[in-house]
Amino acid sequence: MPDPARRDGVLGIDVGGTKVALRAEAAGRPAYDRVFRWPRGADAAADLAALAAEVSRLREAWGPVGAVGVAMPATTDPGGAVTTWPGRPSWAGLDLAGALRRLFPDAATAVADDGDLAALAEARRAGRDDVVYLGVGTGVGGGVVLAGRSVPGRSSAEVGHMVVALDGPRCDCGRRGCLQSVASGPATLRRAADGRGAEVGFDDLRDGLRDGRAWAVDAVDASCRALAAAVVSLGELLDPAVAIVGGGFAAGLPGFVPLVAERVRSAGRPGRAAPAVLPAALGGLSSLHGAVELARGLTGAPLPAPAVPTP
Ligand SMILES: [Zn+2]
Repeated sequence: MPDPARRDGVLGIDVGGTKVALRAEAAGRPAYDRVFRWPRGADAAADLAALAAEVSRLREAWGPVGAVGVAMPATTDPGGAVTTWPGRPSWAGLDLAGALRRLFPDAATAVADDGDLAALAEARRAGRDDVVYLGVGTGVGGGVVLAGRSVPGRSSAEVGHMVVALDGPRCDCGRRGCLQSVASGPATLRRAADGRGAEVGFDDLRDGLRDGRAWAVDAVDASCRALAAAVVSLGELLDPAVAIVGGGFAAGLPGFVPLVAERVRSAGRPGRAAPAVLPAALGGLSSLHGAVELARGLTGAPLPAPAVPTP
């Protein structure tokens, strides 16, 4: 019989294309943190079996949970089924909400877009209610938080598909000039390789940037200008307190976020200051922490006090 006092545990699951992170929290005891990789070449059924094994492991090592929040990069329909996910194509059509109910029959569960949840977690950590968040990695994800809530709410904020270059490169979605077609990690590396006339990996780019190589500096600057265009446009529409820039690619390049900030500052106009740009505080963990927040919201428990009071 589980001890009812231990049912206050909340679990966040950050589902990625290659790996999954779990974090369980409860008052008065250490958090449970665990990362596992999806089985190679597996289909959705094998992936769910791997997840079920991890959930058993969590229950044995840490205890039961009363609420579960899941951060998903895939598009899901309002019923909780996966419509499309290029990261793991076999998940298309999967009834994710149903699978979660079977995995956690005694817990409340919810699924949300990983960019929206990352934005929520970063906003809470910054102690701000009005935030735009842009995460630069394999693509560009992100989200918008206004008055402390994710917007638009009925669907995800797709900041990576904001058009910033009318005749820009082709995006994975088929359109030209989406933010992520210019500013994602792979897009930046491709541009650097074109400028250098040789292949460029992430470490080459970081070293080239440090050494002031024109092919590296120019490639990164073009990404930072595209991100700045997005931040300035979001600022004109939403007037957020701050724009937070994170994601593994941005975090791994010293000077990247300050350069976005500089490009944004110089794009302000009289009467409308552009949002201040801050680096993400949670690094690669923002969507995982957002998933924990989502779970906590399901319990009706009060949210933890933000680290910094909202002005
Ligand atoms: Zn696109």
